[in-house]
Amino acid sequence: MNKLIWFRSDLRVMDNRALSSALKGGFDGGVYALYVATPKQWDSHDWGEPKVSFMLRCVDSLSKNLRELGVPLILEKRETFGELPKLLLKLCQKLDVSEVYLNKEYELNEIERDKNVKEALEPNGIEIFAYDDQTCLAPDHPELRTGGGRPYSVFTPFMKKWIDIIDSEGLPSVNKRPKKRKISKLPTELLKYESVSELNLPFNTFKEEWPGGERNGLERLKSFAAKGIEHYGDRRDFPSISGTSRISPYLAAGALSARKCLAYAVRANEDQLTMDKNGEMIWASEIIWREFYRHVLFHNQRICKYGAYREEVDKVAWRYDEDEFERWCSGMTGYPLVDAAMRQLNSTGWMHNRLRMVVSMFLTKHLLIDWRRGEKYFNQKLVDADFASNNGGWQWSSSTGTDAQPYFRIFNPYSQSEKFDKEGSFIKEFVPELTPLSGKALHKPEAKLCEACGYPSPIIEHPEGRERALNAFKRA
Ligand code: FAD
Repeated sequence: MNKLIWFRSDLRVMDNRALSSALKGGFDGGVYALYVATPKQWDSHDWGEPKVSFMLRCVDSLSKNLRELGVPLILEKRETFGELPKLLLKLCQKLDVSEVYLNKEYELNEIERDKNVKEALEPNGIEIFAYDDQTCLAPDHPELRTGGGRPYSVFTPFMKKWIDIIDSEGLPSVNKRPKKRKISKLPTELLKYESVSELNLPFNTFKEEWPGGERNGLERLKSFAAKGIEHYGDRRDFPSISGTSRISPYLAAGALSARKCLAYAVRANEDQLTMDKNGEMIWASEIIWREFYRHVLFHNQRICKYGAYREEVDKVAWRYDEDEFERWCSGMTGYPLVDAAMRQLNSTGWMHNRLRMVVSMFLTKHLLIDWRRGEKYFNQKLVDADFASNNGGWQWSSSTGTDAQPYFRIFNPYSQSEKFDKEGSFIKEFVPELTPLSGKALHKPEAKLCEACGYPSPIIEHPEGRERALNAFKRA
């Protein structure tokens, strides 16, 4: 009897529930690992080259780490999830596998895929062991409920309850690196692809900025915990400085576990998890935001079908102006901070959180363009694209989501610019045509200056965009 570990968005050997469980107790049968690339399915989820490429770099590093442990990784490629039940059954039968280990994913298609695989395997005597591994607390943890017994829809009470649960249960344990074992032999015909570079999929996009693999993720976490976390509260909102951890792609691909992040934050805070507003705990609260959006996803699967969290608000008469959308995508709206942010996204695969809020609110409020268009564009361009966090962020900004504030929260892009990029160094880095300007003129250049710099005039005046959005929401 042998075992198979099926990797998906958990691309690491450190602190991986499914892997640790499969190797528990000195099991001495064969242990194999599987990763299946599903490009057509990924396209249908709008995953772009930056994300796919980064994930595959993580798979490459996972394959090496697994080999060191004595577990060979089988690489496969199928177009869609629909082909997986047959593939898994065939593989298990060929390798005499009777137990399959995996970590759960919570999106609708992924849940459906796992159900279909289970239905194919179980009648054939192959058992599936599934673990909650993406978060510190399972999204459906029985205690994560409001006083009325419902799932949470507002972040702050969720966070309070989340911390109470950790207080009473203790920090979630971090699995030790499994022991090395004798390598399980694989029939050569199963090694169709020697490495991810043979899959004929993008692999090198933004490789320098975003090297794949858990060692790189852990290095970033360690260095941030040593040098950045205590200043996080003061620095996190300024895109021109490196004040945040930049670990999001590693968390999204599962090259780093959320439990490990929490453990580092708590250790840096004298072993306490609190609601304090110091750098360490503000950072921990970001990890809890990530958990919150997975809780929201788990309990509201309609958001996977393009549905708004608050369906009643989604009656807004969204606009679908192609030209304006294109100007937003390419960073040509005439709002310097918005444009710098979009150009950062397009040229690096990442965007600072403050700017994600600014540009998403600009698209959905000033331009009144459907939030789903922006969500899709982010998925296509972000190296850290993650359904729950991206959808949560977009719905927060467009006031269709879980934000406790009403729709009239509309950021003024000029004040955001003066506050968070005071000297304009971020704008100048990404919008070089504005380099000759400074002060107010840089944040809000007048038409004459725009023309002189070869930069567009504002796509809409701020008061006009704000007014139109308020009216559209009032009417909805
Ligand atoms: P840090 O500030 O160092 O935070 C540490 C970690 O906490 C992050 O890596 C991330 O995993 C988590 N986190 C931080 N802020 C949030 C948040 N607001 N919501 C959920 N998790 C958070 N994050 C993604 O990982 N993938 C996305 O596709 C994504 N899309 C977004 C879209 C919009 C419109 C908005 C407003 C936010 C989005 N975020 C997304 C959240 C956030 O912007 C990024 O997680 C963050 O900028 C990543 O940088 P960092 O690793 O330096 O974060």
